[in-house]
Amino acid sequence: MAGKSIGRLPHGLLCHGPAGLGKTLFAERLAQSLLCQRAEVDGAPCGGCRACRLFAAGNHPDFIPVKPADGGKPIRVDQIRQLNEFLGYTSKFGGYKIALIAPADALNSNAANSLLKTLEEPPPRCVLILVTASPSRLPGTVRSRCQDLGFTLPAREQALGWLAGRLRGRRAPDPGLLLNLGGGAPLAALALAEPERWARRQALFESYRNVLLGKSDPIRATEVWVDGPLAESIRWLSSWHMDMVRLKMVGASRLLNVDLEQALHVLATGLSTRMLFQRLDAVHQLQQLAETTQANPRIMMEAFFSSCMGE
Ligand SMILES: [Zn+2]
Repeated sequence: MAGKSIGRLPHGLLCHGPAGLGKTLFAERLAQSLLCQRAEVDGAPCGGCRACRLFAAGNHPDFIPVKPADGGKPIRVDQIRQLNEFLGYTSKFGGYKIALIAPADALNSNAANSLLKTLEEPPPRCVLILVTASPSRLPGTVRSRCQDLGFTLPAREQALGWLAGRLRGRRAPDPGLLLNLGGGAPLAALALAEPERWARRQALFESYRNVLLGKSDPIRATEVWVDGPLAESIRWLSSWHMDMVRLKMVGASRLLNVDLEQALHVLATGLSTRMLFQRLDAVHQLQQLAETTQANPRIMMEAFFSSCMGE
């Protein structure tokens, strides 16, 4: 019977730690192993039983993933109502019913309140797995109802070895550079090596550099920025600014974007330290704006680039 050996599992489990460590993968695997009808002795799902096959196809009737309808959008209260309804039904396979909420920090306040009620009085044999890289954004009441499961960064050598193995035979940037840019998280680093994603970073940098050098206007420069995930683009912008500040203050030794060192050096030389900090501040404001649903990316970016040109 599914999950018999794990009777003491908590109703709420909060997986947290830096992005790119595989928290969601872990949570999915945990869900699958709880639903598996022939789980191995070590708890690993068998991969071959009916439950595993349904899970892999995204059709297991006792599993519900809850995520934002659109990347960057909040998880709304009606999604949690659906989840509560799901938890109220009898399990189709006679075992656990499992919900996976990722990223849990995307819950808006109504949704979090509704979830809290469920966590306070959970139906029997239900497990709610919450995944987040920003646990501080969750209400303390929700966090306190969950068992804590923290993920930490692996040792750099270990991460580099894993990454180099994954990238072997591929035309990819240097593993050390990728790992730095991924904040030390191996999966984040590997994701950056996707050719499209890496090429986009280069295109964004070119566009920004051209604005600063007066070779492009804000409207033209904005095109590439609004054509893709804005939050990620602004994270790049922030990372380049941090590096320009590092170049000014402590030299190149602590640089993350080492492949752009020369270009960043030229750009930083043209800006006073005060100006750089002001610009960094403006980038942080962009970051906050990008997280609100009302922000118009085109207007936001055009305004930012215009302010860069006026200096
Ligand atoms: Zn199985």
